[in-house]
Amino acid sequence: MTVTERFLKYVSYETTAGEEKEKSCSDEKMLRLSDELLQELFALHPESIAINRYGVIDCKFSGDEKKKRVAFLAHVDTSPQASGKDIQPKIVRYEGEKIVLKDGKVLSEEAFPHLKNALGHDIIVTSGETLLGGDDKAGIAIIMTALKDVLSEEGHRPLEIIFTTDEEIGADAKHVSMELVESEYGYTIDGGDDRFVSIESFTARSMDVMVDGKSIHPGSAKDKMVHATNLLVDFHTSLPRYLRAEHTEKKEPFYHLCSLSGTEEKAKAEYIIRSFDEDEIQKLSDLALFTAARMNELVGYEAIHVSIKEQYHNMKTVLDKYPAIQEEIKRVYGKLGRKYEYEAIRGGTTGSQLSFMGLPCPNLGTGDYNCHGPYEYVDIQEMEEMVLVVKELMRG
Ligand SMILES: [Zn+2]
Repeated sequence: MTVTERFLKYVSYETTAGEEKEKSCSDEKMLRLSDELLQELFALHPESIAINRYGVIDCKFSGDEKKKRVAFLAHVDTSPQASGKDIQPKIVRYEGEKIVLKDGKVLSEEAFPHLKNALGHDIIVTSGETLLGGDDKAGIAIIMTALKDVLSEEGHRPLEIIFTTDEEIGADAKHVSMELVESEYGYTIDGGDDRFVSIESFTARSMDVMVDGKSIHPGSAKDKMVHATNLLVDFHTSLPRYLRAEHTEKKEPFYHLCSLSGTEEKAKAEYIIRSFDEDEIQKLSDLALFTAARMNELVGYEAIHVSIKEQYHNMKTVLDKYPAIQEEIKRVYGKLGRKYEYEAIRGGTTGSQLSFMGLPCPNLGTGDYNCHGPYEYVDIQEMEEMVLVVKELMRG
């Protein structure tokens, strides 16, 4: 089976992530793809294979004992931001023309400049009504294709394949059965441009702001009412506006307001705070706490409550302690004569959490673009290139 055939098979499974659940993955339908992958891996005669109640698979293959065991990871779920039901993928040879999808949606270089990299390539697009699911079924197809080829060779390294669920709602790493993991490090195959190698991700915190107001009839409110929502809006506008997500890029940090609701009596806002640097994210957190404290002083009581929680960390802190990983990437890409560049991900990956749980994981691209929506497409030639990279990494 080619990587494209596998890809088309995997996207036929609806695996949209939902609300997080305690006992199993967020949507039972996801388990049907986990089951399919379990069968496919089993047919390759693994040394051990296990699936846990969240549908997370850990599968090991024996290899040359003198080489280090390395893990390859991808996730079966797709983003809840767009429908993943009845995906109708279409293969198009891209020659620079506009690609018209349903509902008048147009995939063009004007809107998506990176499409020019696909010139002369075959790309798989959506009907325009769903996402494609290349995030991360491209990763699964690449791993399965490379694995099948490499297992027929002598001398490959001992391998571990981990397919996770619920990555899109941030719940995948914590559902990995870490007691089963034997690899020294791993590679997540999950993302865009096939030339990108990521050893850096955001450090992430969430910030909830709750405001207790004092509601008085508006007619007699003067000097008595403390309007919770107005106070919250004041708090929000006191944070530096040039540090909003929509004004930042590259290595710049931000505060991002996710939701805001309220009445005179109560108000609530949810934020995320992102940075690449631990000291910097601490400063942003301190500034928000300081702002709330000053406002509470002025209003005369503890009206604003700020709660900041850690979500994940920049994996570079851990990956810097494993120079062998970067040396391996250099060796493999060099051997294949391929260019690559390090990209700092303005987001998190499974590796942002797993790296701190004992499995350091850089991320490699898959050739999947515009993920999480109807303009998603996957570049077949880039997927094929990544099969070669993953095969070489599996050989060790
Ligand atoms: Zn992904």
